[in-house]
Amino acid sequence: MIVSLRRGAELDAVKRELTGLGLWVTSVERTREGDAFVVLGKGSTAVPVDRIERIAGVGAVSQPGSPHPRVDALGSDVDLGDGAVLTRARPGMIAGPCSVESEETIHRIARKLAARGVRLLRGGAFKPRTSPYSFQGKGRDALAWLRSAADANGMKVVTEVLSELDLGAVAEHADVLQIGSRNMQNYALLKGAGAAKKPVLLKRSMAATVEEWLLAGEYLLAAGAPKVVFCERGIRGFDDTTRNLLDLGAVALLAHVHGLPVVVDPSHATGRRDLVIPLAKAALAAGAVGVMIEVHDDPSCAESDGAQALDPSELDALMVPSDGKRGMS
Ligand code: PEP
Ligand code: MN
Repeated sequence: MIVSLRRGAELDAVKRELTGLGLWVTSVERTREGDAFVVLGKGSTAVPVDRIERIAGVGAVSQPGSPHPRVDALGSDVDLGDGAVLTRARPGMIAGPCSVESEETIHRIARKLAARGVRLLRGGAFKPRTSPYSFQGKGRDALAWLRSAADANGMKVVTEVLSELDLGAVAEHADVLQIGSRNMQNYALLKGAGAAKKPVLLKRSMAATVEEWLLAGEYLLAAGAPKVVFCERGIRGFDDTTRNLLDLGAVALLAHVHGLPVVVDPSHATGRRDLVIPLAKAALAAGAVGVMIEVHDDPSCAESDGAQALDPSELDALMVPSDGKRGMS
């Protein structure tokens, strides 16, 4: 974005106001005639142009065409209906098992979560597993179990759609469609998911740049998705002591510079249950409007990702913080 200054404008005062609005002044240029231009860094879209135009000394603001105008126009809050709103002031908790294993298990876990104030129930019916020999999920049966467990406890369903073949069934049972990390750039699936006209939780691919992630969001919105929530779940690092490398810088960038709704999945980011709560807190401090956490009440028997699963009671650290601060919903 380029901000041109009026003749005689106080350059330092304008720069101070711009940085005070959270904008990133990358350089100041001058024409041979002495006219000054302030160049703002990429991603300075969170502040409305007319707010910048009101600064004393500013002449005009020009914004080069953005490749993701629909994403840029998203607000940072997400209303999922029935009072489930994700905001920075009151972040949302999405919790549930990695995979929906049986009707009884998902009902039991949902009950325990609902009792702690969790309103968004996650659980995979179709599982993207690295090995074809690992548990692949219980498929369509699991979708029905997940839906009935959510309904029995006044919760909403967040579940992954792994393939275009299952889009109809997943959209019928889910309140929020999850696009998994491995599918972030499956453009046919993104178009299909957008056309289902449900809110979408878009996980960042483990090897995607922020710009690629935003463009995947643009695909969803262009295809008709009413809402997109970005989910950072860790990217590939060089160090395997944690499962992935949680990119909290990207979370802060989306939240504070782009003004976008972003949630964090510390479970897949770390792969270790002892790091989930500390990183969930860090995510909220970085500007996330929510977290997504894997929970199981018998992790040693979980069909997938038991090592990173928390017991439902461990969510109390976030839902009901002991320091008297307002918890999550
Ligand atoms: C999940 O949330 O169930 C999942 C498989 O995560 P990811 O796509 O981030 O690996
Ligand atoms: Mn998992």
